[in-house]
Amino acid sequence: MMQSLSDMLFTQGFGTRRVCAGLVQQGLVQLDGNTVTDALHEVEVREGLPFTVQGQAWEYHAPAYVMLHKPAGTECSQKPSAWPSIYTLLPAPLRQRPQKGAVQGVQAIGRLDQDTTGLLILTDDGKLIHRMASPRHHVPKVYQVRCKHPVDAKQVQRLLDGVVLDDDPKSVKAAACVQTGEHTLDLTLTEGKYHQVKRMLAAVGNRVEGLHRSRIGALELPADLAAGQWRWLSEAQLVALT
Ligand code: URA
Repeated sequence: MMQSLSDMLFTQGFGTRRVCAGLVQQGLVQLDGNTVTDALHEVEVREGLPFTVQGQAWEYHAPAYVMLHKPAGTECSQKPSAWPSIYTLLPAPLRQRPQKGAVQGVQAIGRLDQDTTGLLILTDDGKLIHRMASPRHHVPKVYQVRCKHPVDAKQVQRLLDGVVLDDDPKSVKAAACVQTGEHTLDLTLTEGKYHQVKRMLAAVGNRVEGLHRSRIGALELPADLAAGQWRWLSEAQLVALT
């Protein structure tokens, strides 16, 4: 698809159309290593097209799909109540991408608690957000759980058989539950109820002291993505997710 350079910047979250035209005209945008100063310069846009704005290397993506390694002490909310928002960990263009349907900027698919760490996916693809949030969508999510009390075989079996939480008489069960240490287990859930891991562990008489999400679908949190860092999802990773 052909698009003017300033329109392309606009779609990628670099500001209003006027701001984007200004960035180009001021010589702040490079394409293929060359500074382009004509805001109407026609660009053949494609996924992953590299460009630079004010020295910041960027890639064209529409929609944007990114993963974030959520650190502890952050809230998955645009308007956090007590802790810094995860959105402050993302560069401005990802937060400022223009409104598409109900979605402005990238948004987290589901939430993790303030003290939970690990894999979060963010996108401005409203359809994907909707699809993954649907109760009919059962993509497995894998959590590493650290418990206050020693884990025993009976607790593991109860988590696999199903426990009843306080807001629903229908029981919820782990799709998989493997004890990995005296106080630790790997738990796979296919739903995403509020505080589900913590409430399930409380229901079997234990208590969560540490919680980390390592996987969504077939998408693993990369070992080299440090807490607080984000990365574009590759095409293959996007497919792995759903
Ligand atoms: N379950 C929880 O209790 N908390 C999370 O952050 C995720 C799953």
